[in-house]
Amino acid sequence: MDIKSIIYPVAALSSMGLLFGILLAFASKIFAVDSDERLPRVLEALPGANCGGCGYAGCSNYASEVVSGNAKVNKCPVGGMKTARKIAEIMGVAADEQIRYVAHVYCRGGNNTKIKYKYKGIEDCISASKLSGGPSECDYGCLGYGTCVGECQFGALSVKDGVAVVDREKCTACKKCTAICPRHIIALVPYLSGVQVGCMSQDKGAATKSICGIGCVGCRICEKKCPAGAI
Ligand code: SF4
Ligand code: SF4
Repeated sequence: MDIKSIIYPVAALSSMGLLFGILLAFASKIFAVDSDERLPRVLEALPGANCGGCGYAGCSNYASEVVSGNAKVNKCPVGGMKTARKIAEIMGVAADEQIRYVAHVYCRGGNNTKIKYKYKGIEDCISASKLSGGPSECDYGCLGYGTCVGECQFGALSVKDGVAVVDREKCTACKKCTAICPRHIIALVPYLSGVQVGCMSQDKGAATKSICGIGCVGCRICEKKCPAGAI
């Protein structure tokens, strides 16, 4: 065998390998993207719930927006002010005070509400609401099948006596329950807001009274009697 027929191809391949190696080394320098060393630190300071309560697509996306200067440091409802302060320190900015919000269910009806029919389908509020609007006589009240409960990753929701109830201490205001409820009866309210009405029926008072033993009938007694004139 001619030795040259081996040496030449090997030499050619080695030269090409060397050339491409040098080109790749140059390209990696030219097209290198500077990564901000604050990004992993901000990410680590976040609780990692990935709930979207900050308004961004998960913790990673929020961290990027903070480091880019597009998002405030106090947007994580799960971490609260403790997390906001940590991120503020990393970013070298001040952490504005954050108003704490919690979920509130605008219904106390549950087992106090009459039913139209006995629902025997899947134990899920969305499914139940698709069958003639749901088994409850009230078109505005909680259906009580706990679809919101399954959505809350913080264990802040439960169904008691046929109606969803929020544990205010566990709620992180991530808003997942507000989005899933087919009756749209969960909303965020300030933690310090105190008294909240537990009904959002739009029916006339007499109609509400006839189907729910606990619904607001719009009698305005609370408005007249409140000593602080706060209603
Ligand atoms: S609050 Fe909404 S999602 Fe939760 S149990 Fe009631 S109807 Fe279902
Ligand atoms: S109750 Fe609602 S807002 Fe509060 S933590 Fe659970 S899903 Fe999030």
